[in-house]
Amino acid sequence: MTTVEKNEEAEKKSLNFIEQAIENDIREGKNGGRVHTRFPPEPNGYLHIGHAKAICMDFGAAQSYGGKCNLRFDDTNPVKEDTEYVDAIMEDIHWLGFDWEDRLFYASDYFQKLWDLAEEMIRRDLAYVDEQSAEIIAQQKGTPTQAGINSPYRDRPTEESLELFRKMNTGEIEEGAMVLRAKIDMTSPNMHFRDPIMYRIIKHPHHRTGNAWNAYPMYDYAHGQSDYFEGITHSICTLEFEVHRPLYDYFATKLMEIEGGDYKPRQIEFNRLNLTYTMMSKRKLLQLVKEGLVRDWDDPRMPTICGLRRRGYTPESIRNFINRIGYTKYDGMIDVSLLEHSIREDLNKKATRVSAVIDPIKVVITNYPEDLVETFSIDNNPENPEEGKHDIPFSREIYIEREDFMEEASKKFFRMTVDKEVRLKGAYIVKCTGLKKDENGNIEEIYCEYDPESKTGMPNCNKKVKGTLHWVSVKHSYPAEVRLYNRLFTVEDPSAEQDADFRTLLNPESEVVINKAFVEPYLKENAKPGDKYQFQRIGYFCVDKDSTEDKIVFNRTVSLKDSK
Ligand code: ATP
Ligand code: MG
Repeated sequence: MTTVEKNEEAEKKSLNFIEQAIENDIREGKNGGRVHTRFPPEPNGYLHIGHAKAICMDFGAAQSYGGKCNLRFDDTNPVKEDTEYVDAIMEDIHWLGFDWEDRLFYASDYFQKLWDLAEEMIRRDLAYVDEQSAEIIAQQKGTPTQAGINSPYRDRPTEESLELFRKMNTGEIEEGAMVLRAKIDMTSPNMHFRDPIMYRIIKHPHHRTGNAWNAYPMYDYAHGQSDYFEGITHSICTLEFEVHRPLYDYFATKLMEIEGGDYKPRQIEFNRLNLTYTMMSKRKLLQLVKEGLVRDWDDPRMPTICGLRRRGYTPESIRNFINRIGYTKYDGMIDVSLLEHSIREDLNKKATRVSAVIDPIKVVITNYPEDLVETFSIDNNPENPEEGKHDIPFSREIYIEREDFMEEASKKFFRMTVDKEVRLKGAYIVKCTGLKKDENGNIEEIYCEYDPESKTGMPNCNKKVKGTLHWVSVKHSYPAEVRLYNRLFTVEDPSAEQDADFRTLLNPESEVVINKAFVEPYLKENAKPGDKYQFQRIGYFCVDKDSTEDKIVFNRTVSLKDSK
């Protein structure tokens, strides 16, 4: 069976329109049946969950059709780009589970080729140097309903353009004084055809080529040609490039004519990912970092891949999420709770269950021997018995959650209250007998008596009580800082609030730090940064890199249930 047939069998119904297009091309024998894609990030920021959608498509399509996917940094604007971003992007793609093997490229690898090709276009009267200012060029561009005006430099001799083009690169011409433009059609209904700019002067050292160049190619010119140089068959990108596609094809056709080849890459566009309560603009994410409104690019509230990783997301959960939302031609907004559902689903299978008390209050079990310590065995994951068990010590004084106790409770309150029995998870049934308050009336301690016959293996072990509470033995407890994360923005679509400063839309409770939590000793022995746990009855938590010898720091990945 060929790859195509296999795929048809397995996934007939679930093929998206891009996969269908690729299969048609294979069936028609285009490019000899080759599938070669690329992921082209600009190294001007960290990757975010939207990029993950593009990555899953680019690398995923190559995987499905026995093809290849290149990683190509689109580094044509030295002002905003940096090697810090290059390194972080590579780390994140690997973490997501994809690999470009030996095919790591940079648009800057092609600066010479692109230059030579631009010179050839000048010689063929397909490009010219314009000495007008950016404002004048913009004015002459016209509107979609009104034709543009030809530049007075449009028909200058090719020799003159060639000479000026070379000067643009020597450093002797000021930024903005000249540009190279493609000579296409100032009356075209497609604005992108109205003599688009191919090169501009930027006097700023480039992170790879240093001061070798002063003239840099524009995206539309550099991108399609780089695809061509690499033999890309399917150049998959987001919908905003749909209107650029005729220009993409135009440049590729010119290159094909110049080189005398017969191959042309094909651009296909899909809808970008927008998530509720999230902002995906790299410029704004950079602003959040620069202004210290978040901890860093990897702040667990950021929609960046490294932020999601620090928050406790797994690569599988992100890939599952992308798979669920699919690829279409319609822009829309995805509910962030769908992303949260994916991580909950994954961690339910993977996370070890532990006991942690976030807002502790002490309970003294008055009839329990002062020096006795018993050890109970807890399932690491009831969803998966193969994960085994771990020990948790029990003693006379324990912590429970403050909200699990009520002095005057209604009949419907099944947690701890005076004269009622509750079960301490994995241990005994206890009955509350009283409490002690300080001078301000705050509860300091709660008193209980336990039923020695109620632990596993004893006559009352199956006795029914309505509530089960989690707990931590006071003298075995280990201090923890718990960072509760909530949505970063207070509005569903922060990007839509054009008039508001986006900083005013930040949720003041997006991070709530709790310093006085206690966790069971198992975590002291085992928790390493990146490890994921379910705090019983509370949620999923991930160990943060800020943890020290004295206390473990946990980030809340997600609560146990969708509360919104
Ligand atoms: P900008 O170009 O404004 O700096 P960008 O988000 O487009 O930002 P790139 O580094 O150019 O950043 O993106 C690399 C690839 O990721 C592009 O092919 C782009 O279409 C895709 N991409 C970017 N944002 C999203 C998104 N929200 N959803 C899906 N794909 C995206
Ligand atoms: Mg882009």
